[in-house]
Amino acid sequence: MEKYEIIIIGAGASGIMCALNTNRQVLLLEASDRVGKKILVTGNGKCNITNDHVVAACYNTPLVDRYLAQFNSNQTLQYFTQLGIFTYADEQGRRYPLSNSANSVLDLLFKALSLRRNVKIKVNARPQVVAKTPHGFTVTTEGSTYQCDKLVLATGGNSGTQYLQQLQVAYCPFRPSLMGLKTTKNKGLAGVRVSNVRVRWRHFDEVGEVLFKDDGISGIVIFNLSAHLARNNIRAGKLSLDLLAGVAEDQLLAMLKISVQHNPAYTLSEILAGLLHKSLARNLVERLGLQQKLAQDCTESDLRGLVNALKNYTVDFIGYADNQQVHTGGVDLQDLDGNLQHKQVRNLYLAGEVVNVDGVCGGYNLQWAWTSGKIVGNNL
Ligand SMILES: Cc1cc2nc3c(=O)[nH]c(=O)nc-3n(C[C@H](O)[C@H](O)[C@H](O)COP(=O)(O)OP(=O)(O)OC[C@H]3O[C@@H](n4cnc5c(N)ncnc54)[C@H](O)[C@@H]3O)c2cc1C
Repeated sequence: MEKYEIIIIGAGASGIMCALNTNRQVLLLEASDRVGKKILVTGNGKCNITNDHVVAACYNTPLVDRYLAQFNSNQTLQYFTQLGIFTYADEQGRRYPLSNSANSVLDLLFKALSLRRNVKIKVNARPQVVAKTPHGFTVTTEGSTYQCDKLVLATGGNSGTQYLQQLQVAYCPFRPSLMGLKTTKNKGLAGVRVSNVRVRWRHFDEVGEVLFKDDGISGIVIFNLSAHLARNNIRAGKLSLDLLAGVAEDQLLAMLKISVQHNPAYTLSEILAGLLHKSLARNLVERLGLQQKLAQDCTESDLRGLVNALKNYTVDFIGYADNQQVHTGGVDLQDLDGNLQHKQVRNLYLAGEVVNVDGVCGGYNLQWAWTSGKIVGNNL
């Protein structure tokens, strides 16, 4: 039986970071045929590495603060600089490599990994059974069983549940998060983008661009909303969108009145066309049953109805799209110590999405992967 000091299961962002930050003898087991594959698709292929404004409020738990204090976005950028990865920030503080290429990030992480003599990588290796022994753990893949003193689970969201169960580690069920929402048919709206939409749901209140699809809505603000829905396990309901977040209701009413007064022969869709995308204007007027009305026949109540429909555009969401970026759920931070070691199952460490930490869009999830991987690596 081969013996290692450390076995890391999962060579994604957190597993790689962990392996790069320990001097112990490591076996890194990766189920797919290549390490770090998911990094390639992050940030639309550009890899949004982190964000200049990482705070606990961007995550599902304030407990994350304790860990971010150990390795924050500045330290991440310094670390990446040493690996030869230089970055720029966009206006929202999202950090991307200057190469604008997730490929280059993975290439340099992989290069650093391949120079580490203490790290042995096995791809196409998916352990079937992990077990606690009096002196550590055994990890059994098809054909081999390995022994180790310390085990790191870095399998990402929803992939490591079998190991958690085998080790009798409690976890919150994994649920997809950061994705578009499925809605009832958005007649005639596929492809329409509306910027400056205010989306409110319970304590969630954010303004951003919404992209309408044939049977769904998407965009960063919707992804961020989906994180809150997923954390609360809300799978259907009514959403109210303010399609003109920058314009107050009375201002809007005054604008409509001016347009109606000067353009009596316009249809109401034409009146609205100066305010929002024409497909959405048509859709809104149809919803109110006012498509036959001309501006000259419009009553005060019709105009107030339009204002209300613009400021409270309702959408029936009926599920999640299947383009999730992360999972909510996993092993709670309160069951882990400051080094991300499990409090009951000693010498078991967890990093990345397998921990119950999920952030909104903008580089926060990779930051958690780097932070958690670094902390575990440093403390093995
Ligand atoms: C399309 C997309 C875009 C994204 N863009 C961004 C972004 O721009 N910025 C950002 O911050 N976050 C982004 N994310 C989220 C980010 O990729 C994840 O939060 C991050 O990769 C999590 O790191 P991890 O190490 O926990 O898991 P992963 O990166 O998922 O790595 C887990 C690894 O474990 C391996 N594995 C799983 N099960 C086993 C097993 N049984 N045995 C062996 N190996 C196993 C997997 O193959 C994988 O390589 C994006 C995600 C997606 C899907």
